Amino acid sequence: MKKLGFGLMRLPLINGTKTIDKDELIKMVDLFIAKGFTYFDTAYMYMDYQSESVTKEVLVDRYPRDKFTITSKLPTMYLKEVNDMERIFNEQLNKLGITYFDYYLLHNLNGNTLPIANKLDAFSFILNKKKEGKIKHIGFSFHDKASMLEEILIKHPEIELVQLQINYIDWDSPSIESRKCYEVATKYNKKVIVMEPVKGGILMNIPLKAKELFNSYNKEVSLASWALRFAASLDNVFMVLSGMSNLEQMIDNTNTFYDFKPLNEKEHEVIKEVVDIMNQTNEIACTGCSYCTEGCPKNIPIPKYFDLYNSHIKNKNSNSSMYYAILTKTHSKASDCIKCHKCEKSCPQHLKITDLLNTVANTFEKKN
Ligand code: SF4
Ligand code: SF4
Repeated sequence: MKKLGFGLMRLPLINGTKTIDKDELIKMVDLFIAKGFTYFDTAYMYMDYQSESVTKEVLVDRYPRDKFTITSKLPTMYLKEVNDMERIFNEQLNKLGITYFDYYLLHNLNGNTLPIANKLDAFSFILNKKKEGKIKHIGFSFHDKASMLEEILIKHPEIELVQLQINYIDWDSPSIESRKCYEVATKYNKKVIVMEPVKGGILMNIPLKAKELFNSYNKEVSLASWALRFAASLDNVFMVLSGMSNLEQMIDNTNTFYDFKPLNEKEHEVIKEVVDIMNQTNEIACTGCSYCTEGCPKNIPIPKYFDLYNSHIKNKNSNSSMYYAILTKTHSKASDCIKCHKCEKSCPQHLKITDLLNTVANTFEKKN
C-alpha cells in the first residue's frame, strides 16, 4: 500500500464560506484513487461534524468498497457514558454509508482523555467491534509523553496501530516527543500512522532563511515534500496523513509518494539546519486544530489570534494589528481570558495558551 493517506480534516471550502467545495473535493478524490492511493482518514468532529457525511458523497457512493479504506475515530473527549460509544459508532457508520471500518482508532488519547477511555472501557468496545467484524484493525491516536504511550501499549497488546504526531520540527521536541513516541511504538511492533507531518501548515510557512536553504539543495521540490518525505522515510511508518485542501496540494503530495524516494544523508543534514533556524524564532507552534475553542467560556478565537501573532513576528509590516482590531469588535479580546485553563487541557501541542494570550494582548492591545 502506498504510504500517503488523505486526511479529511481541512477540506476545500467555497471562497470565504464554511461550505465544503464538493466539486473540488471530487476532483481530488478521483486523482488520489487514479494514482493508486487508497487510504482515507476522517473523524467524528472534523469539518464541523461534516467530514464523514461528505466522505460518503464524494467517495463511498462513487467507488466500489474494495477500492478504498476508511479510518475513523471514537471521540474520547466527547464521551460521558458507556452508551455514547455505541451511539456515536453507529452514527459514524450511517454517516459514512458503510458496514465496517478498515481502521478505527480511539481519538486523541492523552492524560485527560485516557481516564475516560479506561472508565468506559473504550478499549474493549473497539476490540468487541473488531470481533463482530465491524472494524478490521484497531488503534488509537496519541498526544502525550512516550512514557504514557508505553504504559498503554503494555496494558493493551490487542492494539495494532498508533497514530502519532511526527514531523521534523517536533522530532526532538521535549513537549511533543515525536522521536521517543515513535521508538516506543516500534519497540512494541505497532504500525505507525503519522499525523501533522507538516504541523498543520507551519512547515509550509517557514522563515525565509530556511526556505532558501531547502531551495539551494533542490529548488524543484515543494516545502511540503520535504516534510512528508521526512515522516515517510521512517521504516516503521505505515501511513502518512496529509490534510490536503485543494487540487494543487493533492497533485504535489501524490507526486511525492507516487515513486517515493526516502531522504538521503545530505537531505537529513539540510533538515537539521532548517530545524536550527526555526528553533531561533518566537512563533507560536499552533496548528490551528481548534480543539481549544470548544469549551472556552469567553469564546476567544485562540488559533486566529495566534496566527495573527505569528504573521506579526514574521513580518512587522503585516496588517495583523489591524485584523486583530477588527476581530475584537465581534469576539472577546486575548486579555479577556479568565485563565480557567480549560483550553490547555485540549491542546494536542501542549501550548501554555493563557501565557501566550497574554503575549498576544501585550503585542496588539497596548496600542489600541
Ligand atoms: S483559559 Fe482563557 S482562553 Fe482558555 S478556556 Fe479559559 S478563558 Fe478561554
Ligand atoms: S492552541 Fe492548541 S488546541 Fe488551540 S488551535 Fe492551536 S494547537 Fe489546536
